[in-house]
Amino acid sequence: MVINLSKEYSLVSTWVSELRDVEIQKDMMRFRRNLERIAEIAAYEISKQLEWETKEITTPLGIAECKVLKEQPVLATILRAGLPMHNGLLNYFDKADNAFVAAYRKHKADGSFHISLEYISCPDLENRTVIISDPMLATGASLVKTIQYLKDEGNIKDIHIICALACSVGIEYVLRALPKAIIWCGDIDDELTAKGYIVPGLGDAGDLAFGSKLQS
Ligand code: URA
Repeated sequence: MVINLSKEYSLVSTWVSELRDVEIQKDMMRFRRNLERIAEIAAYEISKQLEWETKEITTPLGIAECKVLKEQPVLATILRAGLPMHNGLLNYFDKADNAFVAAYRKHKADGSFHISLEYISCPDLENRTVIISDPMLATGASLVKTIQYLKDEGNIKDIHIICALACSVGIEYVLRALPKAIIWCGDIDDELTAKGYIVPGLGDAGDLAFGSKLQS
């Protein structure tokens, strides 16, 4: 399932338009904060789909029946571009467990690339809900490889994927590999360059959030 958060008129569209804007992109703090804000909205929407139970809470004046999350999700992200969205999820799911994976595109001289995974830090994922953030769902290759890697750490109950922008071919690729996953995205573009960049997209999300790097 795919949920495009820009389908309805809301502030998400404002933040997505600012992420795309070459002038506003010069403000790295705003770029990171807009990714974080989209993730906060996704966290709120995802929370409606999680399991809840009631608990008696003692107030200074009595007992209140309150709804509380039955289980905490595991928030996972792909370093480094996923960090601002991960932070946004963590602002709302403040008691969640966390997983980090380092995945990057290793480019060859002809422009093709493969996904290299080099680091994982994660709790037991047996029967857990995992919410994974990656700002740009382009080919979907790094997300699928990362999730397959995480699946070695336990039988994951549910997978929610959140991204700022998704490309339709990437969505298809992810859902073919992970048919039960739910994808939440800030918006959807249809074009992908030969180098795997989304068009019109926004450029390199990692560089725009954290500055350019030496490695290609
Ligand atoms: N990663 C990015 O940062 N941008 C894209 O367009 C695709 C993948």
